[in-house]
Amino acid sequence: MVVLEQLSELQKNLEIIEENNKIIRSGSNIYILNKAKRDYENFKALYEKKIIHKETLKEEDIDKLQVELYYKKETFHSVKRVMKEKIQRANEEIEKAQAEVARLKKEIPEKYLIIFFGILETQTSPISTIKNSRCSACKHKIEDNEIYNINNNDEIVFCPSCGRILSHSHKKDDKKCIAK
Ligand SMILES: [Zn+2]
Repeated sequence: MVVLEQLSELQKNLEIIEENNKIIRSGSNIYILNKAKRDYENFKALYEKKIIHKETLKEEDIDKLQVELYYKKETFHSVKRVMKEKIQRANEEIEKAQAEVARLKKEIPEKYLIIFFGILETQTSPISTIKNSRCSACKHKIEDNEIYNINNNDEIVFCPSCGRILSHSHKKDDKKCIAK
């Protein structure tokens, strides 16, 4: 059923958007960056305080201070660079997935979109795959005739327990199922 594949694609792209939004919002990103920044700034302040009384320091101590200052500055800048790239990549992924979502929304008949987004209001992931004759989301046992219907009916099949749209994980499984 073509629409089932399109709905699965839609779900996949919505998940990509959510995952990448999480990356962008991630508090650990900001924490790591702030820590590297603080480390550098604190050390820089200390360095400047010490270097005022340069004459009281040994040459090798001055060298050591400078090396450490350089190291902390480099760490801060490389963390900043990596984070910027990570966020940029996440934004690109979101953009691509959003374009796919827009395309699929145009292709999928409206009645299926209404069903899909209706389920999404109360459940995460409106499409659930069948694994070992069970709905993978809620583990409800799905009868053989229902599994048969997924492949051979013109209508989508819902999990009687959680209400999600049932699908097979991929084409290979479909064939196996029909052959049974
Ligand atoms: Zn279910």
